[in-house]
Amino acid sequence: MSMDKDEKSDKKDDMLREILKRIEQLENQNKSNKNPNKNKHNSNMKCAYCGKLGHWESKCFKRLDDEEKLEQNRMTTNTKSQMKYINSNVKVPGNEH
Ligand SMILES: [Zn+2]
Repeated sequence: MSMDKDEKSDKKDDMLREILKRIEQLENQNKSNKNPNKNKHNSNMKCAYCGKLGHWESKCFKRLDDEEKLEQNRMTTNTKSQMKYINSNVKVPGNEH
């Protein structure tokens, strides 16, 4: 019976050690994130457009994506208004009589 108890407490210790290890790992991660020298590439770059770290606004995929969509939108609306303009100014010969 005492063997069982020991085994259980061993497992508890293992769990505790595991948790402590994870906490230590997380703390180390935080430290390395805060260290500008270690993570210079990422930590100094913050996108002003989407607010994400690791790239500049000029390299922002979201911005480029949005701009592409905007460009497409503008082009389609331009084409539509041009078509309207053309349609309203086109005189169908049959109607003039
Ligand atoms: Zn971005």
